[in-house]
Amino acid sequence: MSETNTAQAASMEDLVALCKRRGFIFQSSEIYGGLTGFFDYGPLGVELKRNIRDCWWRDMVQRRDDVVGLESSIIMHPKVWQASGHVDGFTDPLVDCKVSKQRFRADQLFFAAVTIDGEVKGYVSALESDDTAGALQAAAESFKRKKAIQGALAPVVAVEFTDAAPEQIPLIPSPATGEPGSLTPPRAFNMMFETHVGALRDGSSVAYLRPETAQGMFVDFKPVVDTGRVKLPFGIAQVGKSFRNEITPRNFIFRSREFEQMEMEYFIHEDADWETAHKDWIQWCWDWLKSIGLPDSHLSLYDHPKAKLAFYSRGTTDIMFKYPFGVQELWGIAARGNYDLGQHEKASGVPQAIFDETTKKKFIPHVIEPAVGTDRIFLAVLCAAYAEEAVTDEKGNTEQRTVLRLSPRVAPVKVAVLPLLKNKEQLTTRAKELYKKLQRRYAVFYDEAGAIGRRYRRQDEIGTPYCVTIDFDTVEKDGTFTLRDRDSMRQKRITEAELFALLDEQVY
Ligand code: ATP
Repeated sequence: MSETNTAQAASMEDLVALCKRRGFIFQSSEIYGGLTGFFDYGPLGVELKRNIRDCWWRDMVQRRDDVVGLESSIIMHPKVWQASGHVDGFTDPLVDCKVSKQRFRADQLFFAAVTIDGEVKGYVSALESDDTAGALQAAAESFKRKKAIQGALAPVVAVEFTDAAPEQIPLIPSPATGEPGSLTPPRAFNMMFETHVGALRDGSSVAYLRPETAQGMFVDFKPVVDTGRVKLPFGIAQVGKSFRNEITPRNFIFRSREFEQMEMEYFIHEDADWETAHKDWIQWCWDWLKSIGLPDSHLSLYDHPKAKLAFYSRGTTDIMFKYPFGVQELWGIAARGNYDLGQHEKASGVPQAIFDETTKKKFIPHVIEPAVGTDRIFLAVLCAAYAEEAVTDEKGNTEQRTVLRLSPRVAPVKVAVLPLLKNKEQLTTRAKELYKKLQRRYAVFYDEAGAIGRRYRRQDEIGTPYCVTIDFDTVEKDGTFTLRDRDSMRQKRITEAELFALLDEQVY
C-alpha cells in the first residue's frame, strides 16, 4: 500500500467515537445515565494510561538519581488542607442562572457592552470558547438587528464576568436563556469533595478527598529526609488520584471530577538559582512529552503574569497543548518558594528546616513543582496520534483508514501476531508460539480472524505499531516473517531476533 496525502486532524467527535468503539474510554455508570465528570478506562484505555504513567515513573524516578517515589493516602488529616490554604482558598467563582438552574464558572463566562453610536444599548454574553470575541461580536450584531437599532456598532470588548460591576450584573443575559436578570453575582465555591471519617457524622469528622497529590510530598518531607537517602537538591514524586468538584467539567477527560495526577516536588537550597532549576524542569517536561510522541508543533509555553500569581509564587509556566477545542494547559511548572513546608511547620509545630553543613545554618528548602494530569496527557496523545487518511494500494484502489500513530512507548498493544491463514495448523502453531514468547515482555495481540488487510486496519485503529505475519515461508523456508510498519505500511522480512531487538529499542 502507498499513502496519499490526505491525512486529517482529529475532531473531538471523532476521538470520543473511537474511544467508545474500541474500548478506550466509557462514560462512568453509563447504564444509569452516566455521572458527569467521571470516566472509566476500558481494556485498551487502561493499557495506554498505564503506559503513560509507567514511562513517567521510569523516567522521573527510576532513571534519575535525585528523585524518590512516594504513595501517600488520598484522605489526609483535615489540618493538612487548612494549612495548605485549600479549605479557605481552593475555590472557583460560581454564577447561578436562577431561571435555568444552570451554573457557570465566572472566569469562563464573558460579556460585552453593545455600543451603538457611542451609547451602551445593552449587553451580550458567551461562554469561553476558541473564539469568545467572535461569539460576542455575532451576539452584538444579532442584538442590534433584533432591536432594529440604527447606527454604528462599535467592536465589542470581552470582559470576564468576575470583573462585572454590580450594576451591570442584572443587565447581562444568561448564556442559558439569552435573557438578562437571572444571573447571580459570583460567589466562591470550594471544589474539595467532603466526606466523614468514622461513625460520627458531624463537623469534627469532616475530611476531604485530596484535590492534588502535592501535599503528600510536603507532609512526608521530613520522614523522607530522615530515611537518609536524599541530599539537596532532590525530588519526591507521586502518581495518584485527585478529586475536584469542578463546576463545569468539560471537554471529555480534559476536565473531570476524578482524575490522576503525576506530580513531583523538587527541593532546592534557599540560596540556589531557582530560575535555572525552573527552566531546566520546563525543558525536561517538554522533552519528556516529545519522547512519548507529542510533536513540537502542538506544544507551547505560557508564563503566568506576575500580577496574577499567588503572593508566595515566584513564577509559573504552563506547557500548553493544541487540543481540538483550543490551546489549553497540559502541565504546570511552578516555583513555589518555601511556602508549603513553611505553612506545615507553622500549623503542625514540627520543624521542617534542614541543616546546611557548609553554612551551619538551618533553612526550609524551596521547591519547583512540575504537576501534570495523566488524563490530560492521554487526551493529548490521542489528539496528536489520530488521523484519517486515504490509502491507495498497488492496484490503484483507494480506501479510508483510521490510524492512531501512537509512540511505541505508550501504544496499548506493541505488536500483533497474525497467521496468514486461520485453517493451516502449521501457521497458527508457529504464530501462537511466537505470541506466547512475546507476551512475556510485551502487550501483544493474536488475531487470526478475517482477511489480512482487515486485520491490519483493526490494529491501525488502536495504534499497534507493528504487525508480524506468519506465512508459508516462515514455516517452510528460513523462519523469517513479515513485519508491517503501521505508519509507512511498508513490509519487510525479519528474523525473531531482529524483532526482539527492534522492540527493545522502541519500547523503553
Ligand atoms: P486548570 O486551570 O485547567 O483548572 P489548574 O491550574 O487548576 O488547572 P493544577 O492545580 O496546577 O491545575 O493541577 C496540575 C495539573 O493537573 C494540571 O496541569 C492538569 O494537567 C491536571 N488537572 C487539574 N485539574 C484537572 C481536572 N479537573 N481534570 C483533569 N486534569 C486536571
